Amino acid sequence: MKILVLNCGSSSIKYQFIDMKTGVVLTKGIVEKIGLKGSFIKNERFDGDKVKLEGEILDHQSGIEYILGLMMSQKRGVIKSLEEIDAIGHRVVHGGETFQGSCYLDDITIKGIEDCADLAPLHNPANLKGIYAMKHLLPSAPQVGVFDTSYHQTMPDYSFMYAIPYSLYKKYGIRRYGFHGTSHSYVSKRACEILKVDYQSKKIITCHLGNGASITAIKDGKSLDTSMGLTPVEGLIMEKEEIDYSSLNTLLNKHSGVLGISGISSDMREVETAAAEGDERAILSLKMYQYRVRKYIGAYAAAMGGVDLLIFTGGIGENSPDDREKICENMEFLGLEFDKKINNGVRGKELIISKKESRVTVMIVPTNEEWVIASETRDIVEQMKTVK
Ligand code: ADP
Repeated sequence: MKILVLNCGSSSIKYQFIDMKTGVVLTKGIVEKIGLKGSFIKNERFDGDKVKLEGEILDHQSGIEYILGLMMSQKRGVIKSLEEIDAIGHRVVHGGETFQGSCYLDDITIKGIEDCADLAPLHNPANLKGIYAMKHLLPSAPQVGVFDTSYHQTMPDYSFMYAIPYSLYKKYGIRRYGFHGTSHSYVSKRACEILKVDYQSKKIITCHLGNGASITAIKDGKSLDTSMGLTPVEGLIMEKEEIDYSSLNTLLNKHSGVLGISGISSDMREVETAAAEGDERAILSLKMYQYRVRKYIGAYAAAMGGVDLLIFTGGIGENSPDDREKICENMEFLGLEFDKKINNGVRGKELIISKKESRVTVMIVPTNEEWVIASETRDIVEQMKTVK
């Protein structure tokens, strides 16, 4: 089975076309600046062939047409006809309380996603544009929605409720939902697979530190708590986010986080460089960032009655040894003995970075959200076939 994974943002579309039998990503890329000046597509094929093409891409449908055209092109393509796309898996940001897991996209579930748009007004409509476009361009291919929120639907009420009038929860669904579910789920399961331990009986804390950042406490194989709330703004300090409810939200989402504090960049590498050169606000933003993560680790260890496994993932979690070291400093009281030497210089690979005698195992596990979306899509399509 070959699956096209689409992650549609407000002005971008990330895509991967995966052969599920071999696990090979046949082709992948991103369309950027949709509807803006200077739109382009960047594509990389499995054999390393890379291309960047500029062109006028006015909307999501033409962006997807561009992707499909490239996938079928003689020079850079990987398929001869669209029929070789067996299914499409869409990342959908908000599934509210409606979606407890991934789902086949038909009129009813699509309506369900539309109904959740109030909770994620910038994300869900963009995800939906991709769904509508694919329905139009490839009506015979099954489509599946995989939600950022659904993994966290296992949170108990005392964890997801806010202390606001109960009626606001009932009426508007104001509660903690949590995001990055595919990533928290993938890295925690992958770590248990590597360590050959039982997922269902471990206390795990996963730190997804990327452009967006969130931490999750996973107990008995289920999300117990997570740092992002009703919207992704709550919790950790982030590099940047792009939701736009109102000007306040623009402030929180676009001008806050590491960029807002440092005044330098939303890219952690640039902030780290500035901090190394002595820039005081860059130093402050790094300290705040690391402090928040530490605070959540402590809180979640208390919430779970201990921790067995601490996992770092996301662009920063995978690639910043310095942040990992600072976050794990002086955590011996928790039974965590960090191995600075092993951690030093490691980027982007699966590795245990705690000492052998440490009660808490600390690991780096690179995330793979596209693979989760593709696997969920395959499973649902196969289930549908057996039902038929
Ligand atoms: P997204 O959340 O959009 O998927 P990523 O998880 O890819 O983003 O994280 C991207 C971020 O990771 C970049 O903005 C950058 O700040 C950070 N990053 C990547 N490499 C490094 C590095 N070597 N050191 C510190 N930060 C890094």
